[in-house]
Amino acid sequence: MKTIFLRPGKANTEALNEILSVIKTETEFISVAVAYFTHPDIATALIERTKENRRTRLLLNTSDIIRPAGSDSEVIISKELLKVINFADYQSNLEIKSLGLRAKGKYQNMHHKFMVSRNKVIFGSVNWTSAALNSNYECLVASTDKKIIAEFLDEFNEIWRDAQELYTDKGQLRRIMCPKCEESDGVDFESFGPVCTYCGHKFKMI
Ligand SMILES: [Zn+2]
Repeated sequence: MKTIFLRPGKANTEALNEILSVIKTETEFISVAVAYFTHPDIATALIERTKENRRTRLLLNTSDIIRPAGSDSEVIISKELLKVINFADYQSNLEIKSLGLRAKGKYQNMHHKFMVSRNKVIFGSVNWTSAALNSNYECLVASTDKKIIAEFLDEFNEIWRDAQELYTDKGQLRRIMCPKCEESDGVDFESFGPVCTYCGHKFKMI
């Protein structure tokens, strides 16, 4: 077992490298549950992995796919995350689902941060963002313990069953909900760019 602690101002690429090495080298299926991510190297590694026909299941937090920035009507989406979402396909080696709710008076967070394969599990406080990996107090643990791996795999499989598909059966993105009209069917970034076609809300990109 390996333990990595991150602190602001302490240069440490170990956590990022640990995450990247699994994405780049694991030939078995990997299952990822991470609320949110913005890190460009991770986005690129996930896309490359998919091109090499290696399979990944990615579970995101529904309410974090878009994030409020300041006021309610100003909402941003991570460019890197969108790159990965747009690259994935409902039939490809990269499957993406989302879990959690962002509806009036009802809020559920999928707040996990772990990645598990048959050979390794990585978990801790780290979201896959540049901020978490560069300027936060965080911890990350990597383990090859078979029992821990089996428990994470079981939990992943269970919440994956409850998660919502990000794509319709026609392959269209549908799970990105507009924060203004709270509809998701009008939001199709692939065809129309970052705008809600129902109410005209424009998403900001970071
Ligand atoms: Zn809208």
